[in-house]
Parts: sequence; structure tokens; C-alpha cells
Amino acid sequence: MKLEFRRRGILFVVSAPSGAGKSTLLNALRPGADFVYSVSCTTRVPRPGEIDGEDYHFLSAEDFARKLAAAEFLESAEVHGNHYGTLRAVVSEQLAAGVDVLIDIDVQGARQIRGDARTDIRASIADIFIMPPSLDELRHRLVKRGTETPEQIEVRLTNAATEMEAWRDYRYTLVSGSVEEDLQKFRAIMRAERYLSRRMILA
Ligand code: 5GP
Repeated sequence: MKLEFRRRGILFVVSAPSGAGKSTLLNALRPGADFVYSVSCTTRVPRPGEIDGEDYHFLSAEDFARKLAAAEFLESAEVHGNHYGTLRAVVSEQLAAGVDVLIDIDVQGARQIRGDARTDIRASIADIFIMPPSLDELRHRLVKRGTETPEQIEVRLTNAATEMEAWRDYRYTLVSGSVEEDLQKFRAIMRAERYLSRRMILA
């Protein structure tokens, strides 16, 4: 008799201070991705080149507040003065269908998901913190990216120091190196998580 294993989807929760190399890594993972990237809602204004519905669902403050009041978010937080939230329905449907989902959220959002009332959501989590090699390197990467004003960069650096204190709450910590190194480490984490016995269901 052939053994047929199924499993529920894994919720890969990725957090990093802004500029730690997370976006570069996530973009590099996209081609041929064997997971779904969850598109967050935000009240932030789009950066040049960002596409509505692809990078984020860009919402007005009113629309965001309406969704929040209707409990449509799995988690939500204010980050760097803007609101961000993950749509619960999208994530839980994919997980139930056995599809892995990756969400890119801040440390406050990750904390909320770890405390979610639903045990199946909590059990699905594989959380990964991406650390910049140093605060100097973080500043360097933010300046090089050129998408923030000097004032915004200072806000992000101050927030980064606070966010970095949360690394111990994550199952994995990945110190960012080259894109290639980060990709290899991240893929190794994904691969191992997919073989966890406790995720398996013997049909
Ligand atoms: P950015 O504005 O640079 O795209 O994102 C700023 C921060 O917001 C990043 O740390 C990112 O992880 C976080 N973020 C993006 N989407 C969400 C979300 O849906 N929920 C939470 N809690 N944080 C988010």
C-alpha cells in the first residue's frame, strides 16, 4: 500500500528591520515560487514602480479602518506612521488548501499571529527574523535604496534598533549576507519546515 501524506500549508512569517535585505531576498524568491505571497493592505502611498494589488493593496485611511472594524485582518499594525494589515480570509483559505503562504510583516504583527485564537493558524507558523549584519550596513543600504527622505531614514533606523530586540521570539534568525547566501539559507529553512512530522496528515 502506498503511503499518502498530505499536509496543511505553512505560514512563513518574515520580519526584518527596513533595509535588512528582506525585499531583495523576497524578490529573488519569487521566480518559480512554491508558495503564495500574501499581499498586505496599507495606507502608505505607493513608491514609484509599486503596483496596486501586487505590492500592496493601497487603501485610504477610511477603507482601512472599515476593514479593521469588520475584523478582516489576521493582524494589523502601525509601522513608521502608516497602517498595514494582512487579510485573514486569503491566508486561511490557502493554508486549508495545503498551500504555503509567505507574509512580510513587522514584529508587532508577528506577535499578534503567535497569539491568534485559532490553533490551526498558530500551528502553521514558521517565523524567520532577518538581521542586518550591522546598523552601519543598514544605514548604508537605506541611503543606497534612495526611496526615503533623510528624516524617514532616521525614523526607520530608530525603529530598527527596537525591532531587532524581538529576534529571539522567532524560530529562525538569518543574518543577512549576499543575496545568494540569504537565498540558500532561506530555502533550507523552507525545505526543513516542509518535512516536519507534526505537519503531516496520513491519508
Ligand atoms: P514598507 O513600507 O517598507 O513596504 O514596509 C514597512 C514595514 O511594514 C516592513 O517592516 C513590513 O514588514 C511591514 N509590513 C508590511 N505589510 C505588513 C502587514 O500586513 N502587517 C504588518 N504588521 N506589517 C507589515
